[in-house]
Amino acid sequence: MSKALTSSLLGMDLGEFSVLVSEAGEPAYRAKQIMEAVYRHRVESVAEIATLPQPFRERLEHSGVTLGAARIEKKFVSVDGTVRYLITFADGQSVETVWMPEGDGGEAGDGSEAGETAERLTDIPGPGTSGAKAKAEESEPIAALKRCATQNLRSQDRHSQDRTSSGRSTICISSQVGCAVDCQFCLTALLGVKRNLTAGEIVGQVCAVLKDQRVSPPEDRINLVFMGMGEPFLNYENFVKASRLLVEGVGIAERRMTVSTAGIVPRIYDFGGESIRPKLAISLNASNDALRTRLMPLNKKWNLDMLIAAAREFPLRTREWITFEYVLLGGVNDAPENAREVAELLRGMRCKVNLIALNPGPGIDFTTPSAERVTVFQNILRGAGTPAFVRRPRGRDIYAACGQLKRTVEVATSPEPQMQSISRVQQ
Ligand code: SAH
Repeated sequence: MSKALTSSLLGMDLGEFSVLVSEAGEPAYRAKQIMEAVYRHRVESVAEIATLPQPFRERLEHSGVTLGAARIEKKFVSVDGTVRYLITFADGQSVETVWMPEGDGGEAGDGSEAGETAERLTDIPGPGTSGAKAKAEESEPIAALKRCATQNLRSQDRHSQDRTSSGRSTICISSQVGCAVDCQFCLTALLGVKRNLTAGEIVGQVCAVLKDQRVSPPEDRINLVFMGMGEPFLNYENFVKASRLLVEGVGIAERRMTVSTAGIVPRIYDFGGESIRPKLAISLNASNDALRTRLMPLNKKWNLDMLIAAAREFPLRTREWITFEYVLLGGVNDAPENAREVAELLRGMRCKVNLIALNPGPGIDFTTPSAERVTVFQNILRGAGTPAFVRRPRGRDIYAACGQLKRTVEVATSPEPQMQSISRVQQ
């Protein structure tokens, strides 16, 4: 790890601040002052830590200590208010982070307000009938990207007016640059994995977005999902440390955070033993091993028996349940028979299913199922006693929806956008 990353205050916990402070011969209470400044006030430089005496700030700076704040490089605003951020770190690598001003109807996945809203939403329109979604689907991605500058301004105004009513805003953060898991329907997979993010870089995304949106937990209730680029359980230590800092430093409640894993089974067991942890979501995406192996090659290593056993043994807290995500791919995993198999797999488990109709993308050779097919699938699950919700796609027009996080990275890092040249042969 480079010195620039290791000497960043962002990502250190109270214990590490205490060491820093005592090595500098400063009184112990300064550690708490730094913690407050970095995570609550979200200062962007050591010089800004007003609670520290000037000479101490100067000494820190001279010894190479930096804040390590994440930098927002680009911002794309969707017709539905979703904002996709391209966030760049000290070594020039970047990830995408998404702000959803009204949640996505269940991405909190967890019985918080967003989850409850999902129930109401899915009871009324069903996929494909909401105005915002219809618009998002009609609009052409490139045109939307070009429109973003003006929308950006409009959205900024709207968000600042909405500040007090943003009770279910959700931030979707990334845990790795790219992803190694290779799910066949996910755009991020096409990037491969470049590197893990440090705990500071994970928390830094949240700090940058909170600052940009001018919101601050716990006064503003923010949901957080580790559902952006990357597989959090393949960057386990940094993810766990980041979750703790988000709870203890930034002030986001554990019950408002959800981590999603593609199914790294040993880490599911480890995660159950963490004293501070988000809720658990598992990307199921298929109803039997043959199908899951085809869609998610990691199923060869950790098959459905192993995955479901880990889920059944997962130590749930009071009023907590596991969320299973299921991406519906037209004609592939969306038949009534698949729904019945899913119901059977999950029978008796304290869980719910979030159904996500495929968000399309260049290089993804699957189709989005019809609204009717999604509803039939949902009703079979519900009929079998498994709560099932349909997630509204958010920000599809700006490639901010699930499985679409890659586009800005490509555009920003390639001399020529490569999207059209990438093709994938469906197995
Ligand atoms: N790697 C973790 C975190 C990413 S979460 C995981 O797999 O769980 C992203 C969610 O979006 C996952 O549930 C994934 O299955 C889903 N997803 C991926 N590609 C998608 C696409 N093209 N359309 C809809 N959902 C997709």
